[in-house]
Amino acid sequence: MKAAGSWSDPRRGSPLVAAGVSAHRTSATRANREAAGDPGLPWRQAAGAERARRGTGGSDRRREPAALPARRRMMEPAVSLAVCALLFLLWVRVKGLEFVLIHQRWVFVCLFLLPLSLIFDIYYYVRAWVVFKLSSAPRLHEQRVRDIQKQVREWKEQGSKTFMCTGRPGWLTVSLRVGKYKKTHKNIMINLMDILEVDTKKQIVRVEPLVTMGQVTALLTSIGWTLPVLPELDDLTVGGLIMGTGIESSSHKYGLFQHICTAYELVLADGSFVRCTPSENSDLFYAVPWSCGTLGFLVAAEIRIIPAKKYVKLRFEPVQGLEAICAKFTHESQRQENHFVEGLLYSLDEAVIMTGVMTDEVEPGKLNSIGNYYKPWFFKHVENYLKTNREGLEYIPLRHYYHRHTRSIFWELQDIIPFGNNPIFRYLFGWMVPPKISLLKLTQGETLRKLYEQHHVVQDMLVPMKCLQQALHTFQNDIHVYPIWLCPFILPSQPGLVHPKGNEAELYIDIGAYGEPRVKHFEARSCMRQLEKFVRSVHGFQMLYADCYMNREEFWEMFDGSLYHKLREKLGCQDAFPEVYDKICKAARH
Ligand SMILES: Cc1cc2nc3c(=O)[nH]c(=O)nc-3n(C[C@H](O)[C@H](O)[C@H](O)COP(=O)(O)OP(=O)(O)OC[C@H]3O[C@@H](n4cnc5c(N)ncnc54)[C@H](O)[C@@H]3O)c2cc1C
Repeated sequence: MKAAGSWSDPRRGSPLVAAGVSAHRTSATRANREAAGDPGLPWRQAAGAERARRGTGGSDRRREPAALPARRRMMEPAVSLAVCALLFLLWVRVKGLEFVLIHQRWVFVCLFLLPLSLIFDIYYYVRAWVVFKLSSAPRLHEQRVRDIQKQVREWKEQGSKTFMCTGRPGWLTVSLRVGKYKKTHKNIMINLMDILEVDTKKQIVRVEPLVTMGQVTALLTSIGWTLPVLPELDDLTVGGLIMGTGIESSSHKYGLFQHICTAYELVLADGSFVRCTPSENSDLFYAVPWSCGTLGFLVAAEIRIIPAKKYVKLRFEPVQGLEAICAKFTHESQRQENHFVEGLLYSLDEAVIMTGVMTDEVEPGKLNSIGNYYKPWFFKHVENYLKTNREGLEYIPLRHYYHRHTRSIFWELQDIIPFGNNPIFRYLFGWMVPPKISLLKLTQGETLRKLYEQHHVVQDMLVPMKCLQQALHTFQNDIHVYPIWLCPFILPSQPGLVHPKGNEAELYIDIGAYGEPRVKHFEARSCMRQLEKFVRSVHGFQMLYADCYMNREEFWEMFDGSLYHKLREKLGCQDAFPEVYDKICKAARH
């Protein structure tokens, strides 16, 4: 079967439905109140006026609203709103915008960013739906690629004065940092955000680089297919996951995101188009992942797909003691029967290890649709198994499972909206959550950014599984952030920037630390440099979206640059793109 085009439903499950439900509930409540004769509300005042007009009303006070001119009655809610807004602005004025943005960020996030994020999502939803209906993407793809080639050739004709980079604004990406180079380099506009083709015979999906994981799951799961590795956050893009990297709880079977890709299509530094696969232009195929757009512009990728089932049968197992945690986690990561393996470490010796398999059956009473907006945040739900020290088994709809960390942005949202997991907040406003990372970045300002830099860590370190225990001790000593995300993956022995030390595939683990460091006298630079040194010493890798404090020599000690540098020279990249280190190092981003 071949399906062309794509459309995505927004990441919050179905906010439109959610919004519809709450609107329906609101009007039902209004009707009830009217029937019950609740005074003091505008719509009740209208009913009171009607009674007064018919002479059946009670006291004079009750008849009073009838005497008010209709326009004045309608103005009252608007006036109340205006007074609230005025008081809010006054408060901002007295305290200072910076104070409010830093210390009471939730006010800004809840009032402005949540609604804005929703509008953003609806726009992309409608756009993707229209593209899907018109099936315009495949038709326009070649023309769009030609346009990118034209931009590159023009840059060349104009004397190749600066390096090139993608024109996607830095604030739109998931990475918390914005590249300074966007302002100085020639921005090549890449408007490629559609799924081009799903070929279930070849078991391949062909996509453009700005397609997001939310888009992919919406289309593929609806036709019974999925990606073998589907990174959790809805907004992650195919281009970013190939040129950076991507991982998921099925990576112990399938490897990193790059390892499920079968072909890349690129526009090179001279404007030419090239397709590379493991057997055709294979050097380039292996050099592209992790190169961050410094070998060429990705314009399409072919990715393997596998049949999907409706649910994930997920087992939760609390484990106490670091040694037991590492042993259990290693054991489960080696078992190929497990489709998914993930661990959440809540302290150095307390974890919940989750293992899952896809299934079409559900045991009665065990279905848990964790993605619904009113459900507890996933990491909090998991923590309950630890607190009550009991094992659990749940059936989770596949798409809910994939995006289980989206609503709470892993556990980052608790620092921004501290009451975000409160049931009242979830039921009332949960359908608007989470705010878009891009909008959070866009509005954080310089002070907040610096504050985050010094008091907040977002890092993923990939280390061999055999070093897990040592690595967790090091994380505790250097940064002390919990929960910690544990995600195993198999690293094949292939050429390129990232591969194991020996000639055989090796089991690795991604250790993700997101949050406020609790070590005394945390100093971002020295603490992170210490951690980076450890990772290098065990032949590990740092994800390139994160703050990187290594110098150039240290960076090339961590990554194998042999194939990469050879290709940069061969393809004339040295004058066209910065070296990957110059794009991702601390000095290059703010
Ligand atoms: C809060 C947070 C949560 C995260 N969660 C996860 C997770 O759940 N799973 C996971 O695997 N990873 C996760 N990551 C890391 C993520 O994998 C990286 O940030 C990744 O690079 C994807 O981000 P992006 O889609 O915004 O890509 P971008 O940041 O836009 O791109 C990454 C790099 O690729 C280059 N690039 C992108 N498109 C092209 C193109 N068409 N041509 C040439 N170069 C291109 C860009 O120039 C850039 O250098 C997370 C990161 C953060 C900050």
